[in-house]
Amino acid sequence: MSEHGYCPNCGNNFDGDLIFDTFMERYEGDEEKALESASYYGATKTKGRWGHKIALYDMEKDMTTRWKCPDCEYVWDRTT
Ligand SMILES: [Zn+2]
Repeated sequence: MSEHGYCPNCGNNFDGDLIFDTFMERYEGDEEKALESASYYGATKTKGRWGHKIALYDMEKDMTTRWKCPDCEYVWDRTT
């Protein structure tokens, strides 16, 4: 199951590393600190991954309106 979805064009899976793992590395294995930082991203020990897809920001609407695939450069509208 992919948290960040797949590219509608090439099928690339956008899930990256676990956010928790990244902070475990940064804090050299300090689980308490890692969990605290991960929680700011809504992540837990086993859930919450970095996403690979690129957000295209609309300055006028002040929100992300489209996504771009870093692999095939396909662009599509944000639906949610
Ligand atoms: Zn793609």
